[in-house]
Amino acid sequence: MENFYEKSTSEVLNILKTSPKGLNDSEVERRRQKYGYNELQEGHKKNIFQIFLEQFKDLLIMILIAAALVSIFLDNSGSALVIFAVVVLNSILGTLQQVKAEKSLKSLKALSAPTAKVLRNGIQVEIPSREVTVGDILYLEAGDYISADGRIIENYSIQVNESSLTGESENVSKTEDIIEGENVPIGDRKNMLFSGSLVTYGRAVMVVTNIGMDTQLGNVASLLKNTEEKKTPLQVNLDNFSKKLSTAILIICIIIFILDVFRGYPIMDSIMFSVALAVAAIPEALSSIVTIVLALGTQKMAKENAIIKKLKAVEGLGSVSVICSDKTGTLTQNKMTVKKLYTDNRTLNAGDLNLDNQVDKMAVLMGILCNDASSSNEEKIGDPTEIALVDLGKIYNLNELSLREKYPRIGEIPFDSERKIMSTVHKVNDKTLMVTKGACDVLINRISKIQTCRGISPITEEDKKKIERANENFSKTGLRVLAVTYKEIDIDKTALDPKQENGLTFVALTAMMDPPREESAQAISSCIKAGIKPVMITGDHKITASAIAREIGILKDEKEAMEGRELDHLSDEELREKVDKISVYARVSPEHKIRIVKAWQQKDNIVAMTGDGVNDAPALKQANIGIAMGITGTEVSKDAASMVLMDDNFATIVKSVSNGRNIYNNIKNSIRFLLSGNTAGILAVLYTSLAALPIPFTAVHLLFINLITDSLPAIALGLEPYKHNVMKEKPRNINTPILTKAFGRGILIEGFIIAVCTLFAFHTGLKTGDNMLASTMAFSTLCMSRLFHGFNCRSRESIFRIGLFSNKYVWIAFGLGLALLSSVLFLSPLRTLFEIRQLSLNQIGTICLLSFMPFALIQTYRLIFVKSEKSS
Ligand code: ATP
Repeated sequence: MENFYEKSTSEVLNILKTSPKGLNDSEVERRRQKYGYNELQEGHKKNIFQIFLEQFKDLLIMILIAAALVSIFLDNSGSALVIFAVVVLNSILGTLQQVKAEKSLKSLKALSAPTAKVLRNGIQVEIPSREVTVGDILYLEAGDYISADGRIIENYSIQVNESSLTGESENVSKTEDIIEGENVPIGDRKNMLFSGSLVTYGRAVMVVTNIGMDTQLGNVASLLKNTEEKKTPLQVNLDNFSKKLSTAILIICIIIFILDVFRGYPIMDSIMFSVALAVAAIPEALSSIVTIVLALGTQKMAKENAIIKKLKAVEGLGSVSVICSDKTGTLTQNKMTVKKLYTDNRTLNAGDLNLDNQVDKMAVLMGILCNDASSSNEEKIGDPTEIALVDLGKIYNLNELSLREKYPRIGEIPFDSERKIMSTVHKVNDKTLMVTKGACDVLINRISKIQTCRGISPITEEDKKKIERANENFSKTGLRVLAVTYKEIDIDKTALDPKQENGLTFVALTAMMDPPREESAQAISSCIKAGIKPVMITGDHKITASAIAREIGILKDEKEAMEGRELDHLSDEELREKVDKISVYARVSPEHKIRIVKAWQQKDNIVAMTGDGVNDAPALKQANIGIAMGITGTEVSKDAASMVLMDDNFATIVKSVSNGRNIYNNIKNSIRFLLSGNTAGILAVLYTSLAALPIPFTAVHLLFINLITDSLPAIALGLEPYKHNVMKEKPRNINTPILTKAFGRGILIEGFIIAVCTLFAFHTGLKTGDNMLASTMAFSTLCMSRLFHGFNCRSRESIFRIGLFSNKYVWIAFGLGLALLSSVLFLSPLRTLFEIRQLSLNQIGTICLLSFMPFALIQTYRLIFVKSEKSS
């Protein structure tokens, strides 16, 4: 392998047969053939057959199959074969669900895959990181993850964190100079950048030397472990519940087994029946239903611009009680236009500058030079604040590209939201000028001179007051203000020191407008109605932030706004006391965000927090729901977040909360459906066993209902259309278990009603003296009434209020379930296998009537007593 760090940049470019203009498409294609994609090999993935086999892992299912196999050998029982078939069919259904869920999660992951900025065909484009190839020219800036190994060819104070590779957590400054020596350790190869490290500061251009498994990361990382999604709290909660329930059910099954044996049933049949009852009654499907409903929900959310990265975020979203949001770009449009300027002791509209006045000209020019953006009719690239300054120049026919060529940049200290200022150094004729622009309140104390049409003079207190007043007046109308300053410096070096950003000459204030997004006010108001507190956290000036916050309804009283420095003076306890009275935090830095999140969390709130910068990652991780920006967010923030907003829009967060609440309700409805049906089965069997009646169902019947016909409505309920009125309720307390007492009571009552109807059918059959007919009637009634019950579980409200046909999936599930039941009842070979009697028209009528009864009763009750949707 070449030691690229020992070579000059031009040698490296030669070896890699590339140039600073990058590769063209055909060359990329050729290299792709040669080097493959830029990805680390993944660990072993489960194939569909393994997923299928995993469905049998359940101990009870294994016992059941074993019992069935034994009985085949003993008496060649047909029903044992059917048990086998039902279990296999159930596993196929389970496999399909799991594959579908995994597929949708995979496509979600692809949506939030990391990207890289490269030069292709001479143009800078953003591509998925896996498409980066050897010889590509990569642009890197603070907040980027480096996606391949490479040699720096242009360095602008870049600092990286290489802890993933070297274990060293300190940031490392890099260089473009040659490093001499053989076998230089990775950590000392200061002109190389390595895949998996993170750019924490500055920027650089590098040429890619190695990709995929050939990178240093590929060398040290053995195969990428398949990070399996951890179970969500709801799933853990349900698993625990299932375990407890299973124990109770097993005890009941053992009692029933003993009773059966006492009453002289063959031991093998009794075992099979008890195990089948256990399999049927234990809701092992709960956790997988949750996964599939969550996965389907995330697909819908992705279509609405919210990419969920961690499934547990969906549950959390339903309980969010505070949303802390950035201002710029999330609540506002991030389309900045310079509206006003303060130069040469006067306030002007942006279009009224006089470029014959030296100061006006300097204001526009310096705003364009200390600037990384470019703007044309076709394309605007860069930070909107800087685009606004370039566009200001366009009014006066100043072209940013030719100006930057005329006054080349020879050094810079990039903008970062902590410092809130930025400096660049330029050659202007025979002078070296440092231009510094940034927040007025940060720069005002670093200014010692002022530029007017009469030249440069020392700044007076009076001048400063005037500047500050102008700043305040601009801010009051919601304008973002940037001061433009400069200084002549001696050094001719690229390495600029922040200490030099002092003794500056004031030129101008530029005030730009960034209007709120149209949908923000509406979203804020629905947040408040839903019991969620919206909080604005911004790097911008307090007065600007308050003006915007007032306009969209976040701020009612000036006292609700606080600055980062005031926050510094509060202890954690004091902040906790005050936190619910503050709606706007201005001039904050990323560390403040963590304190704010923690304070809310200590007051038992579930906090959603947005972030986009490199330093936002810790706060995003600390928040219950970390939300990164898809358009403007850094790779690091996206990596730390549990959700990414593809449109950077606050309204999308609110929509996601509503989706989260709906998904939670749908899961709850599926659970209600499954548990109440199982309860009915258990109650019916328990009753007949205690009353010394014949067994109402065969093992096959129970398995057929529970493993096959029941799973269809359970999924259909998960697809229930989302309801708007969920945003009229207060947030759900995350600590309230899904299975509340009221919920359990509902399940018991509904199960009881179904059991009574089933037993009624059973008794009707028994009266004829034909036990098999009684069992047929009990089985059909239980199966059909559960299919009808699917409609009940769509909501807690009357179905006629929410619309009988508004969930077509429940109808499809009902139709399919009915078709399956009919084939068992009316096809004679299946009848034999399922031990079913042929039914008369009268008997069919009785079954239909009794099956419809629970639905009719429950719906009548709701029509009379339940006024509006309430979650129990
Ligand atoms: P948020 O997105 O959190 O609402 P913001 O985008 O308004 O915050 P920052 O981008 O951190 O906050 O900007 C903070 C301040 O820094 C601004 O008020 C402005 O004065 C200054 N500033 C912003 N962008 C630049 C820039 N490109 N160059 C110099 N100064 C800037």
